[in-house]
Parts: sequence; C-alpha cells; structure tokens
Amino acid sequence: MAVTVFLKKIGAIIAAVSAVILIAFTVYDGVFNKSASKDFFAMDTVISAKVTGKDSDLCVEKIEKLVTDLDGILSRHSKSSEVTALNNGVPDGMISDRLLGYLHTLIDISRKSGGAFDFTIGALSDLWSFGKNPKIPDGQDISAALTVSGYEKLSFEGNRVTKPDGMLIDFGATGKGIALDEIRTVLENSNAKSAVVSVGGSVLLYGSEKVTVGIREPYGNAGRSIASVDLNNTCVSTSGSYERCFDVNGKNYHHILDPETGYPVDNGLISVTVISESGVITDALSTACFVLGIEGGMNLAEEYGCEAVFITADKKIYATEKVSSEIRITDSDYTFMNYES
Ligand code: ADP
Ligand code: MG
Repeated sequence: MAVTVFLKKIGAIIAAVSAVILIAFTVYDGVFNKSASKDFFAMDTVISAKVTGKDSDLCVEKIEKLVTDLDGILSRHSKSSEVTALNNGVPDGMISDRLLGYLHTLIDISRKSGGAFDFTIGALSDLWSFGKNPKIPDGQDISAALTVSGYEKLSFEGNRVTKPDGMLIDFGATGKGIALDEIRTVLENSNAKSAVVSVGGSVLLYGSEKVTVGIREPYGNAGRSIASVDLNNTCVSTSGSYERCFDVNGKNYHHILDPETGYPVDNGLISVTVISESGVITDALSTACFVLGIEGGMNLAEEYGCEAVFITADKKIYATEKVSSEIRITDSDYTFMNYES
C-alpha cells in the first residue's frame, strides 16, 4: 500500500463540510483484513481514520468517541471543557488526574525547550485572534498578556493547580498529538493490524506496513508535496507559518508565537516536521523547533531522540541525520542542505 498523507490542515474540506462529515465505510478483504475508515471534525480540524483489522469498524467508532471526549477536556473554546474551567479559575484549583498528567508532560517539554514551547500563552494567542478576526495587537496588550503567561508561574500541590489570574492554558500545539497517543492505545486494544490516522497536521502510522508521507509545498497547493519519506510505527507532525496567518504590508503574521517577544516567530523557517513514536512529542516539538530555529531545533530533536525536517522560506531543506538518508526531494525548487552542527 502506498498512501500519501499530506501534513496539512484541510482548510478547504473544513469549509466544505462546515460541521461534520461522517461517512464511515467498510471494505472486506477476508475477516482479518477488514478495513474501515471514517472522517469527522473535532479539535478544530478534520480527522481521518483508516483502520485494518478484524474489528476495524468498531475501532473507528471508538477513535471518534475518544477524540470527541478528549476535545471536551482540552478545548479552551468549549464552555464546558475542563481546561476552560481551569482557565476561568476552578474554585479549589482541583483538576483530574488525566489533565494533571498532560500538564506535567507539557511542563517537561517547556523546560527542555528553554521556554520556546510554552502552553500558557493562551492570552497572547487570543490577542492575535488567528483563525477568527486576526489583527496586530497593541504592544501594551502584548506585554500585559506576557505578564500573566509563563509555565514557571504554575504551581502544583497534588491535583491542585495554582496559576496567575488571566493565564490561559492552551493545548493548541499539543492536543492533536495527545489524541494520537491515546488512539494508539485504542488500536492496540482492538487488535488492529494497521492504521493511518491524521488529526490535522499530526499523523499516526500504526503497524509495520510502510507508508509514504509527503511534506506539503508550503506556498502553494496543499495537495502537492516537496519531499517524502517512507515510515511505519511512528507519529509525524508539521507546524508551518502558512497555517492560520494574515499579511500586513507584505509581511506574514502567523500563529506560532515567540513566548519571549509575543510576536510571530520570524527566523526564516516556513515549516518544521518532527517524527517520533510519541504523538505529543512530535506535536509539541514541531512548534518548539520552529520557535528555536534550525540550530536550537536540531539540538532539541536530538535531546528527545526525534527526527526533524526544517524547511526555510528560501526553499532549503535541513534534516537530522537518520531522516536525511531516507528523505526524497520531489520538488526541484527545493535544495537539500547538509547540516553540520
Ligand atoms: P497547528 O495548530 O497548525 O497544528 P501547531 O501544532 O504548531 O500548529 O500549534 C500552534 C498553536 O499552538 C497556535 O495556534 C497556538 O494556539 C499555540 N502556540 C503558538 N505558539 C506557541 C508556543 N510557542 N508554544 C506553545 N504553544 C504555542
Ligand atoms: Mg504542534
């Protein structure tokens, strides 16, 4: 099977389906190789699950339920989610074990990235209002949002979380990866043979069968790839400055923010793709490596034992060692560069 998974939020499809596309279908190829697939909308993106295995039809239903439930915990745009309750200041600060576990994972990544990844910058993201009514915020408002942000300002006592008033926890950079890790458990428990599940720009490749993954052309057609690599049993996430962005006087303002300055990262990168067994690590690190730039991003990827591919605005491709030997450049406008640390 050669499936190309384009690492892209399918904006056009989102617009077309407006709310939910729920077309589940099942293909029989013998009892044990039964395949089922389902596309649905959650986590502010399109989710596509293709599963092969005896109970594949039940499995895609479980995946949909899992992601929908998870969104009900992590979404800060849902009135009833646990994160919204935390952001609004739950009276006693008590949160569930599940949310606590996620927060500890994110704190670890924030620390290791030196704060380049920071999941407490929701107030800042709100100011920029990407995806809704984007605008360049007032400098004083940016400073005020940064004052209430900063993962180091969170403190924990068992399940009790204390945070500054106005700090907004944002799983925007990690919810999709967390979903992939939990989906893998569903697949294991369902004895699935193989699966490809994409949650926006984060993809899980489950099973030993190799799948060709394409890195999308950042500037043009989302369906066109500039490079590809064959992968199995892993997760892949891409963060790009071409997502959720707007232009003012020819300058691009996008949704990956530098927690130090409060402004969109402007370091010559246009996308970063991270490959790792862990979904949450790929999702968080694609954002973190984008903020850190090539050198810092390479170091962080190495610290986590991940592979990473960096694409620059001037059409150069840099990659960590292992993926360098496996990647195929499919667009001659792009040049592969040997990276020497
Ligand atoms: P996408 O949402 O397109 O998958 P990312 O995974 O890179 O892209 O996540 C970007 C989102 O993460 C932003 O929309 C914002 O909510 C949040 N974010 C932006 N900058 C940072 C950062 N430096 N650290 C953590 N989260 C961030
Ligand atoms: Mg991410």
